[in-house]
Amino acid sequence: MAAYTEEEQTEDYLFKIVLIGESAVGKSNLLSRFARNEFFPNSKSTIGVEFQTQRIEIDGKEIKAQIWDTAGQERFRAVTSAYYRGAVGALIVYDVSRRQTFDSIERWLNELQTHSDMNVVTILIGNKTDLKDGREVSTDEGKTLAEAQGLFFLETSALDSSNVATAFHTVVREIYNILTKKVF
Ligand code: GDP
Ligand code: MG
Repeated sequence: MAAYTEEEQTEDYLFKIVLIGESAVGKSNLLSRFARNEFFPNSKSTIGVEFQTQRIEIDGKEIKAQIWDTAGQERFRAVTSAYYRGAVGALIVYDVSRRQTFDSIERWLNELQTHSDMNVVTILIGNKTDLKDGREVSTDEGKTLAEAQGLFFLETSALDSSNVATAFHTVVREIYNILTKKVF
């Protein structure tokens, strides 16, 4: 076990990460699964926290991931520029059982690029892989779109937990890698 001085224990980084994507794709449940290991079978789109902070350790550094949830704003096409401000990471989520939510990904990408003043580390997430019989978007389609747009890609299930932590960790790790390469 590593021994820490008091100074080293202070938080080293704070990353703002935003969740975006159509209503009911599972954004709030991905966050509650990741942050509290909770899942809500009948969650209402308007219920949700503004953001949730998770501590993640990489290379002995403590990173605070401040993960923002739309809490239903997206239903009214009213995700504000304040929501995006200062974000260094994003998860763009669709529902693999609803094609319409996949078709809207490019619109969300445009919105993200319009509102952010830097390169945001972005992962495309196909959620609800547990709904095997209801699948409308194949893994290959997701992968192809992600490659074309230069995004990371994972399929997840907030219901059965698969890949949920990996999705958030992938974004945090990549932001950390870019920051510590000291390319500025
Ligand atoms: P949001 O509007 O994108 O925040 O979506 P929610 O997290 O509120 O989820 C919308 C609905 O989808 C809720 O009824 C959830 O229980 C359900 N849901 C979310 N994630 C999953 C998942 O991985 N699998 C299944 N089967 N249902 C999910
Ligand atoms: Mg929500």
